[in-house]
Amino acid sequence: MIHCRAAAELITGYIDGELTADELAALDEHLAECPECHERVIAERQTKDLVARPRQPAEAPDRLRRRIIDAIFGKARPADSTVPKLAPNARVKPLDPGRPTLSL
Ligand SMILES: [Zn+2]
Repeated sequence: MIHCRAAAELITGYIDGELTADELAALDEHLAECPECHERVIAERQTKDLVARPRQPAEAPDRLRRRIIDAIFGKARPADSTVPKLAPNARVKPLDPGRPTLSL
């Protein structure tokens, strides 16, 4: 039977379905006897599912948007002007080096 260290090296492949038949059999045997590694498999699977889950784009707070726009445009923008809201898929595309532009 493999030890925990060897099992830990197989867990990612186990979750991703990338183990050979021999590796799978060895890890299954270990997991049946080792609650710690079994918990590690559950935690890693939950993490993978969480990362893979589609997320809604988050909107930056006004203060952060203002700092970003100030960093891009400097003080050319009037201080009391409103901060434009960016579309979720907004991108900053430089027209040429040193002259960035913001598409809203
Ligand atoms: Zn173990």
